[in-house]
Amino acid sequence: MSKINNRDIRCSFCGISKNDAQMLIAGDGAHICDRCVTQAGEILAEELKQRKSKSLQTTLKLVRPMEIKQHLDQYVIGQDDAKKVISVSVYNHYKRLNQKVDKDEIEIEKSNLIIVGETGTGKTLLAKTVAKILNVPFCIVDATVLTEAGYVGEDVESILTRLLQAADYDVAAAERGIIYIDEIDKIARKSDNPSITRDVSGEGVQQALLKILEGTNVNVPPQGGRKHPDQKMISVNTSNILFICGGAFDGIQKKIANRLRTQTVGYKMKEDDEEIDLTNLYKYITPQDLKNFGLIPELIGRLPVLTYLNPLDKGTLLNILTEPKNALVKQYMKLFQYEGVELVFDKDVYGFIVDKAWEFKLGARGLRSICEAIMLDAMFEIPTTKDEDGDKVLHINLEYAKKKFAKSDIKKLQVA
Ligand code: ADP
Repeated sequence: MSKINNRDIRCSFCGISKNDAQMLIAGDGAHICDRCVTQAGEILAEELKQRKSKSLQTTLKLVRPMEIKQHLDQYVIGQDDAKKVISVSVYNHYKRLNQKVDKDEIEIEKSNLIIVGETGTGKTLLAKTVAKILNVPFCIVDATVLTEAGYVGEDVESILTRLLQAADYDVAAAERGIIYIDEIDKIARKSDNPSITRDVSGEGVQQALLKILEGTNVNVPPQGGRKHPDQKMISVNTSNILFICGGAFDGIQKKIANRLRTQTVGYKMKEDDEEIDLTNLYKYITPQDLKNFGLIPELIGRLPVLTYLNPLDKGTLLNILTEPKNALVKQYMKLFQYEGVELVFDKDVYGFIVDKAWEFKLGARGLRSICEAIMLDAMFEIPTTKDEDGDKVLHINLEYAKKKFAKSDIKKLQVA
């Protein structure tokens, strides 16, 4: 029998001999070298990326406003006005993406959104859920960390770095993504008078945001920041990226109230005029109020859709705790189910959690911290003790909840 020489064994794809290759993997009657494996991997990744982009385009077509709202209803409690406005503008935005613009055709403008509402009422959740429904890349950025280029802080372009990362560096996908800019109210102009010192974290950032919001080609550092000066820039076009901005605009209620008052003073209110709901003045917000608050008119113009969220009352907090598809209590039950333990809450425990969240004025965010405080000990002990005492049901009653709550140092969260 003749001995097979290493020279005779070759990669079935490129023909390189075993001696010359770093590694040759044997298959059924064939071989493949390390280089061909790498190359095939790259071809595969590229092809899959393209297929993903294509499937993205088809899914975009399918989601109509009512369907978007129905999906939102599964995750976000209440806030019907905002949901409707968001569903319509997101639908129109993606309709616009599929538009082939002829010279004489009417070009649909971008419908970036601004959502105004107290903290913890669901602004981020709405934006996040919309992105999930549409299956597009999504990122959240905080406006407070942004500064004008050249100053300490993050350049506005870093927003796009985040989106690129969320899209796994698939530029085509990122260019149809959604960016949620939180705390947009924190970059309001500090005062109405143009000051001699520059406002690099306020008006300067607003100015810098204008172009990105409108639609332009931006050279984005893939790793972000200025720590990697020699990284190769990636060009991203922002024309089709949907921007959703959110903010609590603390104190704007007063400005709205003033406006409403001056509007009505001296005029007899008509009989059928709806009475003003003083508990929720956000409802009456107009772009003019945003301007009075310190957003520059150019920025307001680039956020043409304005909507508001209602403050959460106790009933809504209770619903948030128990109703959504991924409601907090359902999440805890699932966590314990993984340990083989059934978690049961007494109904009055829910009431207790809601009362405390209400006291803390943290919106629905407070629910989570309070639940954590109550459940922490159990979550710490159960994974170890479940096998010992064999108890497969954990019953949380009011007394237990109160005891664990009192023991925790959660009181620090309380807003004065
Ligand atoms: P915001 O951005 O308005 O400050 P978030 O959207 O981050 O608030 O909400 C904080 C948390 O509270 C979310 O993770 C979500 O679980 C919950 N939450 C707030 N509002 C709602 C709502 N309307 N429906 C369901 N969950 C909500």
